[in-house]
Amino acid sequence: MTFFDKKKSKEGKKVVIFGLDGIPYDLMLNLGHKKIMPETKKLIEKGIFMQMESSIPEISSVAWSSIITGKNPGEHGIFGYTDIPPGTYRVTFPNFNSLKAPSFWHKNPDEKSIILNVPATFPAKPLNGVHVSGFIALDLERSVFPKALIPKLIELDYKIDVDAAMAHKSMELFLRDLERTFKARIALYRYLWEEAWDNFMFVITETDRLCHFLWDAYENENNKYHSFFLNFFHQIDEVVGEIAEKVSEEDILVILSDHGFELLESDVNLNFYLKENGLLNLKPDSKRNFADIDYGTKAFALEPSRIYINLKGKYPRGSVAESDYKHVREEIIMLFAELEFKGKKAIKKIHKKEEIYQGPHISLAPDIVLIPEKGFNLKANLNVCELFEKSIFTGKHTQPDAFLWLNKCLDTKIIPEKLSVADVCKIIDKLKIQPHDNFL
Ligand SMILES: [Zn+2]
Repeated sequence: MTFFDKKKSKEGKKVVIFGLDGIPYDLMLNLGHKKIMPETKKLIEKGIFMQMESSIPEISSVAWSSIITGKNPGEHGIFGYTDIPPGTYRVTFPNFNSLKAPSFWHKNPDEKSIILNVPATFPAKPLNGVHVSGFIALDLERSVFPKALIPKLIELDYKIDVDAAMAHKSMELFLRDLERTFKARIALYRYLWEEAWDNFMFVITETDRLCHFLWDAYENENNKYHSFFLNFFHQIDEVVGEIAEKVSEEDILVILSDHGFELLESDVNLNFYLKENGLLNLKPDSKRNFADIDYGTKAFALEPSRIYINLKGKYPRGSVAESDYKHVREEIIMLFAELEFKGKKAIKKIHKKEEIYQGPHISLAPDIVLIPEKGFNLKANLNVCELFEKSIFTGKHTQPDAFLWLNKCLDTKIIPEKLSVADVCKIIDKLKIQPHDNFL
């Protein structure tokens, strides 16, 4: 079956972007060195392998939105998995329709693109090519363009995402589901590879799920799932090798991640902390949800690390006058700078929105974004009873250590001093017009 009008794609270099969700720079080096990922090691030795900063905050929906648009959140408008639009305390879930900058495949409609499993691209929209959404997707029907592909997905037993809830019942069942989901995804990429295309973007997200639940199994050789973890990454390595083999020398291959991972020491409940310090006030008999935010609230947090000032005129029971904004923001910054767990600081950096975001959608941005110290996972659940908690997760996202690998030499002037996920599109555009003799 072919999904394009003409079999032949346009002239010029093809671009392959292969994403590994949540894989830190160091894990690629380490497992390459230990011969768990020999294909990856070969690529690292012959290509350009760099550490890359994730978005702020460092979560998949924001980072992948930056990767596919080449823009920062102030321009593409995605700041997290949830939002509370001004004028309400209603929690909404931004999706692909909320993205306010065009993806590279919509910006280049003359190029044929296959887009497979990129997070935060639900619902799928028409394009010159094929699109299967990544998580979070509400149903398969609206995740696929063109719909003629749906029977193939059903035949392959394709799922958008692994069932993470299963891990709470049985880790064994969860890991079986993870492998099954991964295998169906590989089968779909192989099937779609046979089409004629100019851009092929394929993301594996099982890596992120595995690292959330079993990062301790990676670090601890005595953990009962240690060999499962390594074996799974060995399978990832085989796919890395397979894709590298398929891409011709003239074409561009980019392998990257959207953020890193590290061992989780403790969750930090930001709204609990605001409440404890008299900055967040819920209505009497509150069911502990955002709709119950009451007068007297100066700020509330949304996950993972975003603080919003409850401004008068912006929110229904806004309690901070515009003239007090700066003062209140400084007060909150000082409060979070002091936050400690067992004598250790929990917050490493505190950003004001204008320091990290630029663009027309900055009014939707959080007023403050926190970057945690090593091991701390920032949460914004209102229905909690402790400031510090431990969940089933053993791994958490990190901001500075995503990675980018390229199969091309390139002028170092193209690479910014602080490489970030929003630079990837720009780098690919430069590589597309670079002469052939600069290829590795
Ligand atoms: Zn991710």
